[in-house]
Amino acid sequence: MESLPSLVPLPAAAAIPADGPPCHRCVALCCRYYALEIDAPEDEDDFEQIKWYLIHGKSWVFVDDGDWFLQVEEDCRFLGPRNECQIYDKRPKICREYGMPEHLESPDEPLCDYFTRTDRHDLEFRTMDELDSYAKVTLARREAQRARRSAAASEAWARRKRARRAR
Ligand code: SF4
Ligand code: SF4
Repeated sequence: MESLPSLVPLPAAAAIPADGPPCHRCVALCCRYYALEIDAPEDEDDFEQIKWYLIHGKSWVFVDDGDWFLQVEEDCRFLGPRNECQIYDKRPKICREYGMPEHLESPDEPLCDYFTRTDRHDLEFRTMDELDSYAKVTLARREAQRARRSAAASEAWARRKRARRAR
């Protein structure tokens, strides 16, 4: 991912405005990408699918609280040279609502990307190799869990069988 554009320093928490984000101090961070939730990978084929996303130059994948997202770094085509929206009156609903306190799911949530731009996600994958390493470990762990559960089920079944015979 490209490094973040330089911005004025983050304001102290107390200085975060209650009435909306400080767009006049920002370089339109939220207009420079889109992100879509994707299915969490369950098996090798699912990881292969995500690898395909990652081979495209401006795409990367992140995970927060177990939810997986594909992010594509691409400026909105209506973003103007001074970081202004050129279709302000017609901008989509998601743009109109983003960063407005009344649309937050919880009051603790940061208003917008301006306040989270230095944060990291729980997991971030930018290359096939990064995802591959994670997939190998994860799938091996799941396989081991499956094997343990299967062994435990067989053992329980054998115990019940012995108990029936002993009656
Ligand atoms: S990231 Fe926040 S401050 Fe920056 S343009 Fe978007 S809503 Fe405004
Ligand atoms: S339509 Fe306007 S507010 Fe929405 S992403 Fe594009 S430039 Fe930003």
